[in-house]
Amino acid sequence: MKAFAGIDLGGTNIKYGLIDSAGKILFDKSTPAHAHSSKSEILNRLESCAKELLEFGAASDYLISYIGVGSPGTVDSIKGRILGHSPNIRDWKGTNISKHLSKRLKLPVYVGNDANLMALAETMFGAGHGNKNVFCTTVGTGIGGGIVVNGKLIKGSAFSAGEFGHIPIVMDGKKCGCGLKGCLEAYAAAANLLSMAKNELRKPGAKGSLFRIFSKNGDITIKDIMVQFRERDPLATGIVQKHVDYLATGLAAVVHLFNPDAIIIGGGIADGGGRDYIKMIKSSLEKRVIPDSMNKMKIAKARLGNKAGFIGAAIQKEDMVP
Ligand SMILES: [Zn+2]
Repeated sequence: MKAFAGIDLGGTNIKYGLIDSAGKILFDKSTPAHAHSSKSEILNRLESCAKELLEFGAASDYLISYIGVGSPGTVDSIKGRILGHSPNIRDWKGTNISKHLSKRLKLPVYVGNDANLMALAETMFGAGHGNKNVFCTTVGTGIGGGIVVNGKLIKGSAFSAGEFGHIPIVMDGKKCGCGLKGCLEAYAAAANLLSMAKNELRKPGAKGSLFRIFSKNGDITIKDIMVQFRERDPLATGIVQKHVDYLATGLAAVVHLFNPDAIIIGGGIADGGGRDYIKMIKSSLEKRVIPDSMNKMKIAKARLGNKAGFIGAAIQKEDMVP
C-alpha cells in the first residue's frame, strides 16, 4: 500500500509521520529539534527522521516514493531551498534541504513552508475538509498562514503567499520581528496578548479571577488568560476581545481579497479559547467586512493540532494529493 512520509521542522520539535491516502496516521513521532545547534546537526536530525520513516515503511510493506519536509521561513519549493531568514534557526537561509537529503536518502525530497503546509493538511483532512477555497492561520508566538484555492496551495511568485502575520494593520505602527512596522503579528501574536493583559492587571482597581492568579504567582501565561476567558472573567474577556479585534482586522483583508469558503484558525491561543474564541472572531469580523460577504463562509478551529505540519508536508507534491 502507498504511504506518504512527512517531516515538520519546528523551532522546538521535529514532528514526523506516515499517512495513507485517506489521511489516516500510520506512524507518528516527535523528537527535539535542537534548533539552536548547527545547520549540519539539524540536517542530520532530519535525515535520521526520514530513515526511521523509511524503515518503518519497509517493515510494514508500505510503499514510500518521496519524503516531504515542512520548514519555517520562505521556501523555494521548486528547488527545495530556504530563501528567507528563519528567526528560530541560525544560518538556515540558503540551505538546500532537498538537494542535501535526496542525495543521502536516494529518494526525491520536497520542501515547503510549514504554515502553508498546515493549511493544505487542514483543507484535505481537517477542519476545511469539503471546502475548495480555504484560508488557514496559526496564531501563537508568530502568525502564519496558507491559502488554498480550488484545492491547490497558492505559493506565490516569490514563494511569499500566505504571510498573513505581516499584513500591515496600523500604518507605521509597532515594530515587528520581521523588521517592518505595524504588522498584524506585532499586535495579535502571543507576546502582545500577554503584554496587553499585564498592562491591564497592573492598573489600579484591577480585579477578578485572572487578577487573583497574577497576584498569587507574580506572573501569568497565555493559558491562564484563555482559561479565565472561558470562565468569563471580565478582565480576561476584555483583553481577548482586543486581541480578537486585531486578528479580525487582518482577517477582513483576507475576506475582501479572495472571499474563501472557510477560515480555519489554529495554534495555542485558539486551542485555549475553544468555541467562544471562534465565535468572538466571527462577530468581530462581521463588523469589519462588506455586507453579505460572509454569508457562505465558515469559521472553525483547526482540527489536526500539531500533526497538521507533517501531514501537509507528506502531501505537498500536488499530484500525490488524493
Ligand atoms: Zn512583520
